[in-house]
Amino acid sequence: MKIYKVGDKQKAVCESCQSLTGATFMLRDVPFSDGSGIVKNVLAGVCDSCKEVVLIPHQSTPAIKKQLDTQKKAVETRVPAHMVDILNLASVELGGSTDFSNALIKYYLHNLSEQKTSVKGLIKYLESDLAKGVAQKRISLKGRQVSKEIDNIKFKTSIGSTTDVLKAVVLKINDDVFVHPKTQLINSLKGVAAAFA
Ligand SMILES: [Zn+2]
Repeated sequence: MKIYKVGDKQKAVCESCQSLTGATFMLRDVPFSDGSGIVKNVLAGVCDSCKEVVLIPHQSTPAIKKQLDTQKKAVETRVPAHMVDILNLASVELGGSTDFSNALIKYYLHNLSEQKTSVKGLIKYLESDLAKGVAQKRISLKGRQVSKEIDNIKFKTSIGSTTDVLKAVVLKINDDVFVHPKTQLINSLKGVAAAFA
């Protein structure tokens, strides 16, 4: 594998200039292709004419991966112990192991955020008796989308805190799986659990 140094030159195709141009390796901040963030200070080939990043050498991959992993900062919150029990019970009911719990919450967060599942009624779970209790257990969710999705749900429901969003989601899971079982949803969740296992 060829290792490039800052200042090395290489021919590259530049999409902006729509031609084969000279590129010079420099340290650059490079945005993710989906626009959801930026990787800082990685070696990249920069077009000599328009200064756009036109190539990322293989040697930059570990540095990029490291930054992506750090940016996947976990959303941490504390909830009453029975919330974690509900999640574990639901995971097992759906055919998964307790490892499926976090994926289950993320599935709900995603669907609520995208409004594939209605957020209406979410806030009413917070008035129920099961919403009460001392916050003694931790829920920790990783993923670059998670905090954005929680913010979306806050905005749509006027639920103020992350903890309350997660409590409401857990109680919705309890409702959908155990209290008023939704057969169709349960079947698709079983599919997700099977794929996850
Ligand atoms: Zn160019």
